Amino acid sequence: MEFYSTNRRVPDVKLGQALLEGQAADKGLFLPRAFPTFTRDELLALQGKSYSETAAAVLQPYTEGMISPEQLRTLCDDAYDYEVPLERVTSRQYVLRLDRGPTASFKDFAARMMARWMSVLMEKEQGDLVILTATSGDTGSAVAHAYHNLNRMHAVVLFPVDEVSDRQRRQMTTLDGNIRMIGIEGKFDDGQAMVKRAFTDPTLKGIRLTSANSINIGRLLPQAVYYVYAYLRLADVAAGEPVVFCVPSGNFGDMMGGQIAARMGIPIEQFVIATNANDEVPRFLETGTYEPISPSRVCLSNAMNVGHPSNLARLVDLFGGWMDETGGILEAPDMDRLREVVTAISVDDDWTRRTINEVHAAHGVVLEPHGAVGWAGLQHYLSSAKVDSNRICISLETAHPAKFPEEIVANLGINPEVPLSLAGLDDKPEEYSVIPPDYDRFRDILLASYS
Ligand SMILES: *Cc1c(COP(=O)(O)O)cnc(C)c1O
Repeated sequence: MEFYSTNRRVPDVKLGQALLEGQAADKGLFLPRAFPTFTRDELLALQGKSYSETAAAVLQPYTEGMISPEQLRTLCDDAYDYEVPLERVTSRQYVLRLDRGPTASFKDFAARMMARWMSVLMEKEQGDLVILTATSGDTGSAVAHAYHNLNRMHAVVLFPVDEVSDRQRRQMTTLDGNIRMIGIEGKFDDGQAMVKRAFTDPTLKGIRLTSANSINIGRLLPQAVYYVYAYLRLADVAAGEPVVFCVPSGNFGDMMGGQIAARMGIPIEQFVIATNANDEVPRFLETGTYEPISPSRVCLSNAMNVGHPSNLARLVDLFGGWMDETGGILEAPDMDRLREVVTAISVDDDWTRRTINEVHAAHGVVLEPHGAVGWAGLQHYLSSAKVDSNRICISLETAHPAKFPEEIVANLGINPEVPLSLAGLDDKPEEYSVIPPDYDRFRDILLASYS
């Protein structure tokens, strides 16, 4: 399987190289040249399989030549040792809870698989690998946990020091060893820009860098799996029944996992993508004009405070267009086709809070702010679209309510039960540095620590 860059200026590479490079040398993003597809019989054969078996089946065509099917299966069993509940809300509407991993966010799904792939690759390589990641909150902890104590790997995580919740910060800063946390006195986008610059900085040539952000294709492929899994659990597979997924979105990596699943043969009739007040993508779909939001707006669903989503270039590419790394559109995508399969909705904080209350009052379901943005987007879509009311709809819950207890307590008056993974954080010592959003300071840290 070959992977190309969305900027089209470098030759195709294999998955191993795409994983270790992160971003392509032409600053584009890697995508598979072709998508393997499941036949209906193959899908029927996967019904009833465990999550990790499903993961191995979905990922095997991409990893061929890099790892054996047996080894992939072992990695999947090891990475996916937690529950993936589908919670029924109404007779045809479900919440897919992707919040049972070790850091209680959906990012565990991809980070854990990508870390394992990289560690297999590094067995054949010289030297150390430094994984750079900018986070608005959840990526940092998922990446830090996924790479913690892996041999010859170091993870450096940049987070906006004033925008993450107390609990999010503690999840990142209480690991030690090969994990280094840097708080930025700025925004997620500042951190992301610093990371991107480091990859093209010639003075850092002596350090082997890669990215664990969703610019890395390794963060997207594993995210196709839960769309396949949910589909197999809920839909009439023999009849090829189409379903609707609703995805609360920031950098659009989660949604890209769904796009991959769709291209692999899962009949996803509609993607409802819900953003918070950072509505640059809903406006892009409406007007065809893309204007990043800078600085990004601060919202309750802080992991989605993204003013220029890095995966938009991939979405544009899949729909026949070309967007460069600055957001410039060199070739317009097929907007009509894009609008046919993707509905984008912006949900502000008031609407988010209202939704947390409503879904709890009506159905006894507890959603945190990100999942509530998704649920609100789904309800809006169902009320406004000409959609079959009997459609199976699956809304993704991307974090555990206990990760954002402030909003749950304030809105519902209940304190969500803390899962084992989040327990005991308050007693552990924290370790992190704080720097201004100044690239030179960041580079100096990298040079001093890893060269
Ligand atoms: C990262 C994150 C999102 C957004 O996912 P993208 O892939 O960036 O669109 C949504 N919810 C939570 C809890 C997250 O951590």
